[in-house]
Amino acid sequence: MTKKTILSGMRPTGKLHIGHYVGALENWVKLQEEYNNFYLIADYHVLTTNLNTENIYQNSIEMAIDWLASGIDPNKSPIFRQSQIKEHAELHLIFSMLITVNRLERNPTLKDQVRDLNIENVIYGHLGYTVLQSADILLYKGNLVPVGEDQVPHVEITRELARKFNNHYGILFPEPEPLLTKFARLVGLDGNAKMSKSLNNTILLSEKPEEVKAKLKKAVTDPKKVRRNDPGNPDVCLIFSYHKKFNPSEISEINSGCRSGALGCVDCKLNCASKISQFLEPILEKRSHYETRLDEVKDILRDGENKAHQVAKETMNQVHEKMKIG
Ligand code: SF4
Repeated sequence: MTKKTILSGMRPTGKLHIGHYVGALENWVKLQEEYNNFYLIADYHVLTTNLNTENIYQNSIEMAIDWLASGIDPNKSPIFRQSQIKEHAELHLIFSMLITVNRLERNPTLKDQVRDLNIENVIYGHLGYTVLQSADILLYKGNLVPVGEDQVPHVEITRELARKFNNHYGILFPEPEPLLTKFARLVGLDGNAKMSKSLNNTILLSEKPEEVKAKLKKAVTDPKKVRRNDPGNPDVCLIFSYHKKFNPSEISEINSGCRSGALGCVDCKLNCASKISQFLEPILEKRSHYETRLDEVKDILRDGENKAHQVAKETMNQVHEKMKIG
């Protein structure tokens, strides 16, 4: 049986953090065994909310290193930059003729971004970023898209565009299904529901044990547990949520120790920092391999871009044929 195809991607915003690992990368690494994967560095997508391109290339390299260090295998799946495959732009243009402005304005994540980023006037490219995403997915005839709940509406737009094209010009594209990521987001070090670089509340995948320890030292815990022996409530403590992910074998001990007051926050944080660093150790090791061999990383990207380009070219030939413009 032919393997199904998955397109996964991220915007290159620099070094990744443990929230990226838990929310996406961990899942991607598992999926590469079972599916035919394409890993997209979505560099053009950065422009939808930030026109400064100065760091895009360096951020793309850093992100590729984090992917490789986390276990993405370039021999199984191509890793490539969107900007290097011109067919993304061409398919985006064709798809932009198949969807109305009203439909794009109803996209709930666009509304969230406009509110969160305080955007007064939405640019044309931002309004249509889901059309570009659809082109990213359908260029490789993706059957599945790994997403969180909040991104399901994007996949719906992709399905609509595939349907519209197929109905109008003849069957070519699959209607991709969302593949929901199971693990929830990691809470930020400041207690914010989202770990995010812009909020400066992250632990990077590239951070060394001393840095992890220093960051956790400052992290907020249960505000009612003031003195060491005060009973605490682990359910409101972000350190406990990290223990759940990185130290599951000690979870019941920590739970009871915190509630009875036998466990103090300083010790609990030190333990948590050491477990996170244990988890990061193999990633750091692989990272330092690639950091000292940047040519290898660039070759991996070049190779991934060649492979992705072959597929993209073939799809666009079929698009031209269906549209009778070939
Ligand atoms: S003991 Fe641990 S789980 Fe309890 S409040 Fe302190 S840091 Fe959080």
